[in-house]
Amino acid sequence: MPIYNTRFRKQPTSETHYPSSSNSKSKTKPSYLSMIKPYWRSMVVLSGILFLLVFSLSSGAKERGVQNQNPHLETISQNNVKGLKENPINQKTNMEEQADLKDFKVTVTNLDTLDFTSKLDSDWYKSIYAKADAIKQDYNVSTGELLAPLLVERVVGTQGYYDVQRFLVDKLKEFNFDVSFDNFTSNTPMGEKSFSNIIGIRNPKSTKRLVLAAHYDSKIFPGEKFIGATDSSVPMALILGVCKTLSSLMDNSERGLQIIFFDGEEAFINWSGTDSLYGSKNLAQKWSKSLDPISANALPNLKANELDLVEVFVLLDLIGTSDNQFVPLEATTLQVFNQIADIEKNLLERKYVSKTYFLKSSSASWQHIEDDHIPFVKLGVRALHLISTPFPWSWHTLDDNPKSLSSETIENLNTVMIAFVASYLNLPV
Ligand SMILES: [Zn+2]
Repeated sequence: MPIYNTRFRKQPTSETHYPSSSNSKSKTKPSYLSMIKPYWRSMVVLSGILFLLVFSLSSGAKERGVQNQNPHLETISQNNVKGLKENPINQKTNMEEQADLKDFKVTVTNLDTLDFTSKLDSDWYKSIYAKADAIKQDYNVSTGELLAPLLVERVVGTQGYYDVQRFLVDKLKEFNFDVSFDNFTSNTPMGEKSFSNIIGIRNPKSTKRLVLAAHYDSKIFPGEKFIGATDSSVPMALILGVCKTLSSLMDNSERGLQIIFFDGEEAFINWSGTDSLYGSKNLAQKWSKSLDPISANALPNLKANELDLVEVFVLLDLIGTSDNQFVPLEATTLQVFNQIADIEKNLLERKYVSKTYFLKSSSASWQHIEDDHIPFVKLGVRALHLISTPFPWSWHTLDDNPKSLSSETIENLNTVMIAFVASYLNLPV
């Protein structure tokens, strides 16, 4: 994260280039050819030549694709869910032309009076703790299924960045989320860059969605290896933990759970209005005008844009150190924040967490902190910014690595997040 970013102003090095991988295979002639009757021999030889020609053309095309610098995204796009292609707006317009369609409208929830905690009892907390406890090993920094693969350098365009893209997509699909992408290019102080926001949705037919978001890119430290363990490896892992634990309980949920892994949050050189938040700015604008393709497919009669469906937008950032602390930062979600603090207090009383991180308050106590929620807040979305204030001690230093992490904090917050989402979505735990 971003503001007060005055400590690192080194000039970036030139972009990292990766060698294109070769897919060439040996092209041996079949040895049985001489055994075939002469009449067929010329036919077989001709077919062989044709085969080799097609094979060499296709492998050449593959190599050109690799040189085109984004091989992973190419694969990701091909895997796009249910073969959906772009253009939700056209789809909607076609639908609107049909006169007999009902006009579904999205109702706005009053978050100041929404109560999702008062009826939770001891059995509920016990069940939640058992579920959270069952995935604690997934957060081990060297072997954990959900965290270890994310503790790599993820500078836009590098191998680690593509590896993490693939990992996030695979995990979302494994946990039964439909996945879509917001691919775009943008000018940066280091030239034009390609970006890809990754979006997952469970229950796409719902018109009330809880959004959990974090950024997956890591900040450039020229000549150094910066991991960004709190920024935002741990936030991503916590989101995946919620998906893994609760997805199977969501079949009949009225609400949907939507995940956004943002690209390009970090500045390439110095944090500014133009050099930062590339992914969230692009997606917020796009969603203010149209539906995500998966939503458009699931809700063909809906007259709304994707932002209309977002009930609460929760952004996680700078999480994972022992000094984490959260205060309400956005007035529109003050009561949601305070109910999370209530849940945490109940978990503490039952010794399901070992300490508290959420400071309840009668008002949102700080100004906005610049982060990926801001482009959405500017368009009227109600956001809950779960960012440690003050920032972790390791913020934007090379110490923001696996060694700086606190397993106690991560496990506690895993329990709190699972409890919050299960209660908010009213799931049968
Ligand atoms: Zn950062």
